Amino acid sequence: MAKLSMAAVFESRLAVMVKASATLVKMKRTKKLLIVICLLLIAGFLIPERRAIPVLGASSADWNKDTFWYEPWGSSGVHKGVDVFAAEGTPVVASSDMIILFQGSLKKGGNVVVGLGAKWRLHYFAHLKENSESAPLWVKSGEKIGEVGVTGNAKGKPAHLHYSLVSLVPLPWLMDASTQGYKKAFYLNPIEYFGY
Ligand SMILES: [Zn+2]
Repeated sequence: MAKLSMAAVFESRLAVMVKASATLVKMKRTKKLLIVICLLLIAGFLIPERRAIPVLGASSADWNKDTFWYEPWGSSGVHKGVDVFAAEGTPVVASSDMIILFQGSLKKGGNVVVGLGAKWRLHYFAHLKENSESAPLWVKSGEKIGEVGVTGNAKGKPAHLHYSLVSLVPLPWLMDASTQGYKKAFYLNPIEYFGY
């Protein structure tokens, strides 16, 4: 009887130990996954952005310096980007080396392209002219991805590129007390990005 219960105790202890070591292995795996995610995140920040103004030949004369966060701005409340004015058909170029995530048509944006660049930043190009050719999956900074147009809610307005730069990693120190100021943790000022 005593022998049997000893065996039972031993067995249950063994079971506890097996369970614990299984948990440890799982934790190690989770840790590994976390490390991989962290390394990927860091790698994204180490890739050079190779910045470019997204309209060929554009300079500060082609946008209003107060265009970013201008208000009131229709249904959006504030203008979360920059409008770069140029003749219809002017080449729109990649503002960074980027992976093209989306190319299609949206109600407000018209023909749009969305790219993912270094630092986990989304680059959004809107109101593009109808373009039958599709952008490749990977584009280099300065490479043509479309043409300035008047699609979406730019219809009837002077041709321009609406460009927004969005950080997928929140940057809370950029938030301020302006209207929707908390969104500045994500929407970056493209004019600063252009180096002006
Ligand atoms: Zn705009």
